[in-house]
Amino acid sequence: MAEERIAILGDIHANLEALNAVLDDARSQQVTTFHCVGDVVGYNANPQECLDIIRSVCGTVVRGNHDHYCSHDTSLNDFQPNAAIAIEWTRRQLNEDSVRWLEMLPMSKAFFQQSFGVVHATLDMPEQWGYVFDTFDAGAHFAYQTTPIYFHGHTHVPAIFEKSGNNISRYAPPPPGERVSLKFACKYFINVGSVGQPRDGIPEASYVIFEPRSRIVEFRRIPFDIEAAADKIRKAGLPQRLADRLAVGK
Ligand code: ZN
Repeated sequence: MAEERIAILGDIHANLEALNAVLDDARSQQVTTFHCVGDVVGYNANPQECLDIIRSVCGTVVRGNHDHYCSHDTSLNDFQPNAAIAIEWTRRQLNEDSVRWLEMLPMSKAFFQQSFGVVHATLDMPEQWGYVFDTFDAGAHFAYQTTPIYFHGHTHVPAIFEKSGNNISRYAPPPPGERVSLKFACKYFINVGSVGQPRDGIPEASYVIFEPRSRIVEFRRIPFDIEAAADKIRKAGLPQRLADRLAVGK
């Protein structure tokens, strides 16, 4: 039997063009299982549509900070002004059932038999939504990681953190399509990048395909109709910068 191929995707941020491009690619790659590391909504202009798709396609969805704040009526003081505007706008677009669904999303989920888990930000105080950019940040997370591999998002920058003994290394993602074998002796914390608002300077949707039995990961980058997504942001009256940033991947 062919090995199960799992797509791990996240930070969709209501970008329908990017989400559909990723799902088309994943299906062409014989992916049969989808899990989401959160931030289904926020920033782009199709929150309800993306939520409906993710809800029907993904086996597991964990809660991102935008999912949280779009479904809880709490202060947005900690957000950048453009993010706060997008969250307030998104709260008005979602139907009641979708808000309840976002509100109930778990913070993390582990698949112990398959040796991996998913979380949006980190496992150390996940509700603090810490950003893991370097090996110091990753160290705090690894102390709480109870399966060999965890996938996350939140920074919108794809990366591999590898823990070998007490030593932690950070690797840039391998070229798209290259299959990388994870070492059985190491722990991994893998950032799958962002579907809907990449910030690593590459204006293409990012996600990962994972084969749990052989522990192979493959990063993928998928072009999407940036003009269409940007146009919807402008027409919705969302901040201009949220449209402009898509073309530069920042
Ligand atoms: Zn995000």
